[in-house]
Formats: sequence, structure tokens, C-alpha cells
Amino acid sequence: MKGPMLLGADLGGTNCRVGLVDASGNLVELVHFPTHIDRGLLPLVDRIVSATLELRDLAQQRGHEVEGLGIGVPGLIAPDGTVTASPNLPALNQAPLGQILRRRLEMSVTMANDANAHAWGEGIFGAARSMRSFLCVTLGTGVGGGLVLDRKIWSGATGMAGEVGHIKVAAQERLCCCGATGCLETYCGASGLLKTARSLIDDGIIPGPVLKGEVLSVPLLVEAALHGDPVALEVFSLSGGLMGSVLAHVVNLLDIEGVVFTGGVAPVLDFMREEMLRSFGAEAFGHAGLEFPLLQGKLGPDAGIIGAAHLGTYG
Ligand SMILES: [Zn+2]
Repeated sequence: MKGPMLLGADLGGTNCRVGLVDASGNLVELVHFPTHIDRGLLPLVDRIVSATLELRDLAQQRGHEVEGLGIGVPGLIAPDGTVTASPNLPALNQAPLGQILRRRLEMSVTMANDANAHAWGEGIFGAARSMRSFLCVTLGTGVGGGLVLDRKIWSGATGMAGEVGHIKVAAQERLCCCGATGCLETYCGASGLLKTARSLIDDGIIPGPVLKGEVLSVPLLVEAALHGDPVALEVFSLSGGLMGSVLAHVVNLLDIEGVVFTGGVAPVLDFMREEMLRSFGAEAFGHAGLEFPLLQGKLGPDAGIIGAAHLGTYG
């Protein structure tokens, strides 16, 4: 027999990706399909099961043992594998997904919050390899967070540790999906960035040619920022300042070694960095004038699958 392989799955609001990952963190094979949560839980479970078994059989045909499935899920996960809450995939609320998959697959199934799976991937094989304690911020539709403390995922008493996206940053009434107002996510998530751009334009800041007359989107904002657009640069400057302030609070509490950014919106980090470092330096105790690692993740969109596959691996 050759070396063992691991199976990882990244369950997203739109797509589900299941992959075969080797012991060195390389994604060897990938199967992906639409999540279609509107069709209910069981069709989704059927699809995860068939993709997992397909990849397991493939690995075995190639002479590898398969050690089990790890799955990252957008929601709060109880230790027994029940999804206690999933705002983006409501059909998963209270679903004993871990137990169902274990029974159907007849293999070990480990579950984690998706941001924690991203954090774990970056911690073992990516940008945070040299760190024992760090925060991974996932920038996408929302703003998620995964904490690794002393080389262990810290998910907290109820599974909701690291939710930096729901730290309040502004008194203004931007309503968040969590029910509160003024959360970091309402400024640094994709729709928050667009909302800020619209309000700046409404306030009279004139956008450059890239944004003018176009339907706003995050990729368009990034392109506009590359062209020095005043609206786009101000959006990223404002959101960077808020992010830096939240990260300062996290560092003041936990004294972590760095922060890694992953997720579909992570490329905006370059434009947020200057203001983020300024507000971070002003508010993080003992860090004024010091370099603090605020890093782009190295595994890209595969961090979640690679981390999920290796949930049982400790550094
Ligand atoms: Zn919130």
C-alpha cells in the first residue's frame, strides 16, 4: 500500500467541493456540485456521499488507504456533529449531519465550522505554518473567523469562537444578518463594501471611469482601486481602518502572532492594508511602530478542503 489519503469537503452556500488530499496537503482530485439547499437536506447528503465514495474508490484503486472525511460547514457545530445553527443554509439547522454521514459512509467523519477549516489548512500548510497562535479571517459575502491557539482550533464553549465579523464597529444602523447592527461584516463583507461605495457616491464623491455607470461589484471596486478611483480607494480605506481596529482588540485579548486572510474577497487586502496597519498600530497595546503579520492566505480557495481533510492532524 502507498501512503494514506484524506478526504475533505467544503460546504458552501452555492457550491459544495469534495476533494482527495494527500498527507502533504496537496489537493489531488476534486469533485464539485451545486449545494441546492432549496431542494432539502437529503439530496445534498446523497450528493456528498456519492462524491466521497467516488473519491475513496479512486484512491483505493491507486493503492492508497483512505482515513476518513473531514467537512467544513458554514454554521455552528456541536461536538457530536449536529449543526446547531447555519444562517446561510437554514435547512441544516439542528440537522445531525455528522451522524448521518458517519452512518451512510461507514467511515470516520470530522466536522468543523468552515472558517475553522480554512484556518487549519493555512496553519498546517499555508501562510500561518510558522505560527502557533493566529486568527484566520475569511472575507467573502460575510466576514468569518477561525482561531488557532497553541496549534489547536479554538471553537469555544458553543462553537462560535472567532466570529470577528460580528464585533460591533459602528453605531450606525447597518443591519447585520445576525440581527445586530453595526457589525464589522456590514462594512467589510462583500455587500458592506458595495453599500459604502454607494453612500460615498450619494455623498458627492465622484467615481472615476471604471465605476461610472456600472453596476457595482467587488471585482469592479478592485479594478477601480487599481486605477486610483477615489470612491474605491475610500471604501477600502474605511473598511481597512475598521478591520485594523477589530484586529487590535483581538491581539490585545489573545496576543496571537499574526492574522491570515482567506476567502473570495481577500484580494482587497492590498488596498485595505495601509489604513488597517495604521488603526491596528494605534489600538493594539505594545504594537505601535512594530511590524505585525497581516498576511494573504497561500492556499486560495482550497484552504477549506485541505484544512477539513486534515482536521484530525495536529501540528
Ligand atoms: Zn452581525
